[in-house]
Amino acid sequence: MTQVIKVNLPYDLRTSSDNDVFYKTAHEEQNFILPYCNSCGKYFWPGAIICQHCGSFDVEWKEASGHGKIYSHVEGRFSFHPDIKEYLPIAICSVVLDEGPRVFGRLVNYGEIEKVPYDAPVHIVWLTDDEKGCTIMGWEMD
Ligand SMILES: [Zn+2]
Repeated sequence: MTQVIKVNLPYDLRTSSDNDVFYKTAHEEQNFILPYCNSCGKYFWPGAIICQHCGSFDVEWKEASGHGKIYSHVEGRFSFHPDIKEYLPIAICSVVLDEGPRVFGRLVNYGEIEKVPYDAPVHIVWLTDDEKGCTIMGWEMD
């Protein structure tokens, strides 16, 4: 069972309606799914009706591991908007998934950002705001 952390997000932080299936599945089932191409056998991100690798329309959402490695990270320490201030510091990371695609999400429970190594193995943690009905990706080091 994937860990779920209850949060109060300042806004609905879901991206692109192409990913509606991803966010609905994350919120209702806490399952990590990715768009998958049945023609070339590759995963991709973000969701689309056409494969980013080969152009095939034979794509579907398929369960994925929810594991990867940190590609890069950054920690925000200053607020660009008053609504964000209470969430600082906040770290955002890009993760290269075991399945190949790169995604972005919030890095949680990381301690000191200076000690977070690139290539660190991470797993998905769902950040759920029940009031907004919104669940987004968080990543935690293994
Ligand atoms: Zn393809």
